[in-house]
Amino acid sequence: MSLHRRPRRLRRDGLRELVAETRLAPSDLVAPVFVDATTDERVSIESMPGQERVPLDAVVDRVQEVRATGVETVILFGIPEAKDARGTRADATDGVVQRAIRAIDDATDVTVISDVCLCEYTDHGHCGILEAEARDAPRLTVDNDATLDRLASTAASHAAAGADIVAPSAMTDGMVGAIRERLDSSGYADVPILSYAAKYESAFYGPFRDAADGAPAFGDRRHYQMDPRNGDEALREVALDIEQGADAVMVKPALAYLDVVSAVDRAVDVPVAAYNVSGEYAMLHAASDRGWLDLDATALESLNAIRRAGADLIVTYFAERIAAQL
Ligand SMILES: [Zn+2]
Repeated sequence: MSLHRRPRRLRRDGLRELVAETRLAPSDLVAPVFVDATTDERVSIESMPGQERVPLDAVVDRVQEVRATGVETVILFGIPEAKDARGTRADATDGVVQRAIRAIDDATDVTVISDVCLCEYTDHGHCGILEAEARDAPRLTVDNDATLDRLASTAASHAAAGADIVAPSAMTDGMVGAIRERLDSSGYADVPILSYAAKYESAFYGPFRDAADGAPAFGDRRHYQMDPRNGDEALREVALDIEQGADAVMVKPALAYLDVVSAVDRAVDVPVAAYNVSGEYAMLHAASDRGWLDLDATALESLNAIRRAGADLIVTYFAERIAAQL
């Protein structure tokens, strides 16, 4: 028997690297960092082993730990000292994220992406200003257009503090355009926008809500985040955001949405990010704790798969662990 085509020829040690289609480097990874104004000490997040909420005076140390693994970029989430209906602390000059950005900027060479949303800052936990009657009638939801100004102001305050990239995640129609306009008119025309363009209303965010204390007090986010059943709609979302000035777009979550990552990568000519979310992280930890899966191997395989699908960069809680192995 003669087989002319034998794919196994290229799978020999010494050749596998040469023909590998996907590369993963620490510089592709972005580590989430949680800075918490309500604590004096570093607090572990139970459902996300190895992850912590850190007080302001520990945030530089935390970021330097990330940097020591080879990861060059963090995405910053804040837990404010107080919450209210409008998320007043989200755009405060002395807000927790604004102060953290200044401290990191002064002390390190790490690239800081700031998450721009209101859900960590509102007492109702939604990503924007509520429609007037929403508290009494939980079927109502976020007032889209009333939220735009709050998001723009929050993004501008992050840029003023020194954020390298702002990343709006509120899934508010028009948010990228509103933020771009505000940044440009405030002297931050050079600050790029990474839009969470295709963010799904996903059950995989559970552990993050423990971490950022951002679970909605009522209802859910299905009126503004995307329906997990929709893929074509993601292409409309990214097209709108790019039209409005997004410099890069994100798909979130990652693993259950690799088809979306792939379709977006083929459809757009800007960098594509994918967010390997808290539930994806927690699942592998839980299975590995039981001895059912090898944590390092499954984490690395997951990140390679996300890259293979088309993500240029990956936001992941595995950033430090995997970077240290690469
Ligand atoms: Zn939000």
